[in-house]
Amino acid sequence: MPVLSDAARGFRPLQMAGRPARREPIVPVLGRAPRVHLWHIGCQMNDADRERLAEEFADIGFIPEVPLEDADLAVLITCTVRANAEQKVYGKFRELIPWKRERPGRAIAVTGCMAVEHGEGLLQRLPDLDYVFDVREPDGFMAKLQALHAINLDGPITLPASDRLSAYVPVMGGCNEMCTYCIVPFVRGRETSRPVDEVMAHVQRLVEGGVREVTLLGQNVNSYRDPSTGSRLPELLRAVDTVPGLWRLRFLTSHPRNAVPELFTAMHELATVCEQLHLPVQAGDNALLRRMRRLYTVDEYRAKIRAARDAVRPRLSLSTDVIVGFCGETESEFAATEQLMRELEFDTVHLAAYSVRPGTAAAPRADDIPVAEKKRRLNHLLGVQRDIASARNRSYVGREIEVLVEGRSEDDRPYGRTRENKVAWLPAGAAEPGSLTKARVVSATAWQLHAEPLGAAA
Ligand code: SF4
Repeated sequence: MPVLSDAARGFRPLQMAGRPARREPIVPVLGRAPRVHLWHIGCQMNDADRERLAEEFADIGFIPEVPLEDADLAVLITCTVRANAEQKVYGKFRELIPWKRERPGRAIAVTGCMAVEHGEGLLQRLPDLDYVFDVREPDGFMAKLQALHAINLDGPITLPASDRLSAYVPVMGGCNEMCTYCIVPFVRGRETSRPVDEVMAHVQRLVEGGVREVTLLGQNVNSYRDPSTGSRLPELLRAVDTVPGLWRLRFLTSHPRNAVPELFTAMHELATVCEQLHLPVQAGDNALLRRMRRLYTVDEYRAKIRAARDAVRPRLSLSTDVIVGFCGETESEFAATEQLMRELEFDTVHLAAYSVRPGTAAAPRADDIPVAEKKRRLNHLLGVQRDIASARNRSYVGREIEVLVEGRSEDDRPYGRTRENKVAWLPAGAAEPGSLTKARVVSATAWQLHAEPLGAAA
């Protein structure tokens, strides 16, 4: 088992850390409410954290989501799942240094997975960094800011109405699995779920604000369990499905172990739940899956896909994650992954080259696939998947789809997503953003569908 950091061992939130001795307050008293620039990278969970932080800043009277040049405080919501995500954060941080030095009193805070993984060590490593706090427990940080700026704060500010149609709603956080390559259990802690009622109230608020499509989020969303009633994801879907005005419901990211028949039945029966399933397989060889500690076999995974495709009609769109170049991945193991991709014909595959994450169980193992070979394997599978996606999408030609129109291109063509989460384009003037339109697919590429309108969807 991997060596756990203190934060991960007890799954205690990181204590907020700062440099009060060097400058107090961190954002000087300006005679007005401070303005906050938020930046994030990484998974949808970080998208959702950004929205939540924006609301929390607004609640204490700060003005969130301003452009960097207008900001007094920059908050970086970080990711540590892959080495290159961390490098991007350090790159962003370097860009902020001249911004901070340009006007005395500006401050930088880091939160998200890197904050938990590196903790106060970041303050030593980055002399221009002012604060590190845990995005799961931001209250201490918010209380400190509120206390410092109380004199200039008029209480909660009203965020401008959002024109977004889709939103992420976190329903559980953390992960109890221990995949050997993954840092998530160490930086996001053990699984904790929000009660069904709280999730429903959140969705209701969003729908009242104009949101029509909601994605329920969790690192391991299908191990969701209501803390008091024990309700699982299928029951949560059934509850959220009843929210009036909600058109579409999705969920991310599922673990194959928890992909149970009741979930597929709920997907089939509930009008709002879209015909889309993201079920990461990671590899197509049993020995490789064991080394990753994925706790299922390739045959078990196949059976889940068969059951899902049988249950969810008329047509289930499937996506998955695959890692290439994991420790000791042989040519034949790699070939088995390619074979599985060809056999199961996913609509989308998120491919990544393995990168070592310190502290994980796999970290002490030899990272023995050379970078050039990882790239070759990655590019090979990208080509394989491009052909599969192209064939999958071409099979939609002549079929009817439902498009939630999100916007218009510069040449006025409406675009949006289908229930299967495919990007679809309509002819100029065919539909208004925010509408639900029926259309027939006339052509397709690997990445998008082109369709002609058939009228408004019911
Ligand atoms: S299930 Fe996902 S989040 Fe959890 S440890 Fe495995 S890869 Fe990481």
